[in-house]
Amino acid sequence: MARVAIVTGGTRGIGEAISLALKEAGMTVAANYAGNEERARAFTEKTGIASYKWDVGDFDACQEGVAKVEAELGPVDIIVNNAGVTRDGTMSKMTRDMWEDVIRINLGGCFNMAKAAFGGMRERKWGRIVNIGSINGQAGQYGQVNYAAAKSGIHGFTKALAQEGARLGITVNAIAPGYIDTDMVAAVPSEVLEKIVARIPVGRLGQASEIARGVAFLCSEDAGFVTGSTLSINGGQHMY
Ligand code: NDP
Repeated sequence: MARVAIVTGGTRGIGEAISLALKEAGMTVAANYAGNEERARAFTEKTGIASYKWDVGDFDACQEGVAKVEAELGPVDIIVNNAGVTRDGTMSKMTRDMWEDVIRINLGGCFNMAKAAFGGMRERKWGRIVNIGSINGQAGQYGQVNYAAAKSGIHGFTKALAQEGARLGITVNAIAPGYIDTDMVAAVPSEVLEKIVARIPVGRLGQASEIARGVAFLCSEDAGFVTGSTLSINGGQHMY
């Protein structure tokens, strides 16, 4: 039977490309989203992939969301924690709400979703969890203490949970994308974006499909010996 995968923030941007790549790889996909009904409806009509609305920053909503997907599609073997937001501002302008929103959604969402699915994966002795971090969690970024802290936290979360999952048949990995051509990056002022692209050795933004192919590999049967790793897909912008 096809494995069931949940992709959070799976109806647009990088998440949409991940949902499509996992479907192409033969999985049954549930794409979660936060509230953009128009994009979710268009995505489901175009792809035939079911979309489910809940806030990944809400612990109870995640437990209920995963239970609903399991009732409709079957046991969840794969979680891709992709949903994320930015609330940028320098320290003097960053409010407590901006800090808490980003930590709650970007980092808290990974815990909430993993918590909902880990027990079932453990029982079935197979699971894949892929967390979408960021180059800005590895290197930091001006005006993003909240986002960089959350993404850096995702990289630590990945390594810690990978150690727990290793003997249970559950792999946990992260992808750290560089700058990818999505709505999130379209929100960056063009003069700032020009400077960013100038610092990318391959000389362009990445495509969502380039992240999705990495996720599909980490979710595959072939990737069983890969765990606790971070795959940087960033056009050479940050190497270490
Ligand atoms: P987009 O802004 O294009 O899409 C974000 C997606 O996340 C949407 O589907 C949105 O749902 C969903 N989402 C946001 N908040 C929540 C929430 N609380 N609960 C559930 N879903 C939510 O982002 P990208 O595709 O650009 O980014 C995807 C991931 O990749 C993020 O984690 C981001 O931090 C990371 N990343 C992106 C980079 C880039 O250059 N684009 C670089 C490095 C990392 P809805 O449609 O309903 O709003």
